[in-house]
Amino acid sequence: MKDRLFFKIKKMSNGIDIHYQKVDVPFVYLSIIIPVGSTHSISTNEGGINGVAHFLEHMIFERSKNFPEKGVLEKFVDLNGGYINADVGLEETIFYLSISNKLFDKAMSRFCEHLFNPVFKEEDIKIQREIIRNERKQKERYYPENNEIDNYLNTKWMKTERVPIRQLFGSDSDLNKIDIKILERFNCNYRSKKIKVLVSGKFNLKNIEKIFSKYFFQNIKLKKNIEHIDWKEKKYKNKKFKDIKHPIYVIGGIFNNISLKDEWGIRFLGILLTNYSHGPLYTWLRKEKGISYSMRFSDDSYGKEIFWKMYIPTNKMADVEEIRLNIHKKIKEILNDAKLIKNEVKRRLYRRVFFYQDIADRMDMAENYLIRDGVIYTEKYFDNLTKIFENSKELEKIYDKYFSKKVVREFLCLSK
Ligand SMILES: [Zn+2]
Repeated sequence: MKDRLFFKIKKMSNGIDIHYQKVDVPFVYLSIIIPVGSTHSISTNEGGINGVAHFLEHMIFERSKNFPEKGVLEKFVDLNGGYINADVGLEETIFYLSISNKLFDKAMSRFCEHLFNPVFKEEDIKIQREIIRNERKQKERYYPENNEIDNYLNTKWMKTERVPIRQLFGSDSDLNKIDIKILERFNCNYRSKKIKVLVSGKFNLKNIEKIFSKYFFQNIKLKKNIEHIDWKEKKYKNKKFKDIKHPIYVIGGIFNNISLKDEWGIRFLGILLTNYSHGPLYTWLRKEKGISYSMRFSDDSYGKEIFWKMYIPTNKMADVEEIRLNIHKKIKEILNDAKLIKNEVKRRLYRRVFFYQDIADRMDMAENYLIRDGVIYTEKYFDNLTKIFENSKELEKIYDKYFSKKVVREFLCLSK
């Protein structure tokens, strides 16, 4: 079987790379990664104002020079069974197009016209201002999360927000200031030689190059404002929430400047401890003690920063005390259980056969690492990363650096 994450690279004459994968399917998936995002919505950049990267993303599919009729691109794609969308990230905006291969060239040239030659009208801007105000109001309450507990944990216990909500969406007065001129100036930043193009399916590479050769790209340097994740509260504390009826014990870690191997190791150990097949913490707290119904490990990484949390729901304070007293002993026990670790590696590798079955999943994974490291790792590469942790010495290093008592912090969520 071919490696499902293997993408070839074609360097275009304008210096931009196309990462492509030919697959015998009757459609094409295209992603264009523009290196402009919310961290760049600051006044020191051309057209920079709070909320402008997001505002521009809303405006981009409205009209373009060659296709000035409002919404004509979306209509063309939708009515032909395709899909377009866009997503503003911290340092990039990704534009997505998928459509039948028979219509791909036509759709792609229209798509690029909208990205690089958009037309902004005051009447469209007025409507988007209201839509964005509404979008901000919906996100405001629990930003950057979407429920009461995670909001608290990620803003008062940890600080995980990388851009303030105002920089992301703009305040009412920022939104009122965004006009045709600002959008045009900010859109010039899209013409960057650092654009990355990803394509998978059935397509003609020469035609993609031809479409791109119509536009002029340059070296664009943008300033950014991005905050680093950190602890807000280092001491063990508790807080009452109205959303829960039982104590939830939480432990977690925050780390900067970590390698991909260590990121993989953190995820490996976190999932190993809590998984339902043979996870030692799960076995201890659910199967042996009957304390905890659904414990959960989660991690979130951006660039070389990562934070992880483990949520352990309990019934009463005595359970919490028992967990606090024994959890590190339990975690350390497994570092000496070579057989369990070996089984976990085997389980993970067998599990991976189900990954990347569809092209959307492959594109997703490829985008992540293209943004993170500028390369797309293969399936084989990820298999080898997993195999590293068969060596319990490697897992011990991960424990010491990222899970041991001296680096993790605890928090207790109580019921109101
Ligand atoms: Zn939006």
